[in-house]
Amino acid sequence: MSLDKEKIVQSVPQTGFFGHPKGLFTLFFTEFWERFSYYGMRALLIVYMFTEVSQGGLGIDKGTAASIVSIYGALVYMSGIIGGWIADRILGTSRTVFWGGVLIMLGHILLALPAGFNGLLISMLFIILGTGLLKPNVSSVVGDLYSETDNRRDAAFSIFYMGINLGAFIAPLIVSTLGERYNFHLGFGAAAVGMLIGLIVFSTTKKKNLGLAGTQVPNPLKPEERKKTFGIIGLIAAVLIVFLIVGGVSGFLTLTNVIAFISFLAVIIPIIYFVVMYRSPKTTDVERSRLIAYIPLFIACVMFWAIQEQGSTILATYAADRTQLTYGNFTIPVGWFQSLNPLFIIILAPVFAALWVKMGDRQPSTPQKFSLGLLFAGFSFLIMVIPSLISGSEELVSPMWLVLSFFLVVIGELCLSPVGLSTTTKLAPKAFSAQTMSLWFLASAAAQAINAQIVRFYDGISEIAYFGLLGGISVVLGVILLAMSPKIKQLMKGVN
Ligand code: GLU
Ligand code: ASP
Repeated sequence: MSLDKEKIVQSVPQTGFFGHPKGLFTLFFTEFWERFSYYGMRALLIVYMFTEVSQGGLGIDKGTAASIVSIYGALVYMSGIIGGWIADRILGTSRTVFWGGVLIMLGHILLALPAGFNGLLISMLFIILGTGLLKPNVSSVVGDLYSETDNRRDAAFSIFYMGINLGAFIAPLIVSTLGERYNFHLGFGAAAVGMLIGLIVFSTTKKKNLGLAGTQVPNPLKPEERKKTFGIIGLIAAVLIVFLIVGGVSGFLTLTNVIAFISFLAVIIPIIYFVVMYRSPKTTDVERSRLIAYIPLFIACVMFWAIQEQGSTILATYAADRTQLTYGNFTIPVGWFQSLNPLFIIILAPVFAALWVKMGDRQPSTPQKFSLGLLFAGFSFLIMVIPSLISGSEELVSPMWLVLSFFLVVIGELCLSPVGLSTTTKLAPKAFSAQTMSLWFLASAAAQAINAQIVRFYDGISEIAYFGLLGGISVVLGVILLAMSPKIKQLMKGVN
């Protein structure tokens, strides 16, 4: 029998962490360390992949490396669907988070061993599954700590968001420094240690701090459903294995084809989600209208994250190839540029929060905020056209261009990302509320799946064309969204 929400809230010590439940401490540091390991690994991974074999890297060409990192990112967020389902029906959130952490740590340990490309592939599998189990669930426990009416809720999510970005900020400074200066595997080892610390924090403090939060299985699989469900899972696994064998033998299963197939899945899955939600008899007419309003916002998110996520692929390559990194006898590690996004988030998030409060009713509506997100993402790429215009495509340019680009995208991120999840929660039909977290992450997944196809062109066309085109598309979409925003607001039927 599942406990009701109020009983769970009553079991959670309600203070002990800056006026918030002590449980927020547990979740904050678990996610801090998980993001430390994820973003540390990501900052190092691209460099590890394109560095020559003689220097300890994998010697993969930059376009392919960027494409692999993108599709990896897509899978990491797609697997949130599995993580959400396992927590909801089998393990409950708390145990799912724990096992997710274990898988992530194993993935990083594998990377810490000199296991080459095959080691990387197996490690990816662990990290993809592990993050799917951990990330959406740790965020949803944050909400479980507070009663529906508790006005500390929004602040809790802002604090949690700071934890994410603090982890993402510190990670490259440690992981990339160790990895680029000394040895790649040492860097990945640091990511593994980070996840280990996260796991220790989580398992030693959860009993005391989280009470019953996350311990229940909200919608347990009934015995009669078990057979059918495991049958379906077995069938999918069998189809996959046959597909891999046939594909492998026939030579059809090239890296390019696999990436293309995953890209297709990542785009089609959210479309299926929308159709299922729209057609469900449990969805009311008002909810259908809200879903229609959500579609352009979702597309805006995909475009936004496509640019934001290229910060760790295309802009990382730009840092390595086109940027002046050596000053006297100090060389800036390539991965350090990955700390810029979270650094600007940490500095500016409170400023934006205060700004919205100050503006009160005069603040931009939700669709307008999404369009600001697109405009600034677009500017962050358009600005990268300028250094090529000024100094051509050979000369090394000042790192300040990248600093400016990351700064601009963060302005967009602060308009779109914090309202994004709550908008998803409010616009998705009630009957699907357990899946809203997955739906939100599917925007990032689709974005990175599209990136996996786009980034390969970066090497073939001029920087001016690449940044100009993508930046331009984002700005145009932003303007269209701005024009549509009154209509979208109307379709949102009172949600704002
Ligand atoms: N950078 C944020 C995080 O890691 C946002 C993820 C996203 O929604 O893409 O949590
Ligand atoms: N800003 C991202 C997120 O909110 C972190 C990053 O891209 O490094 O976590």
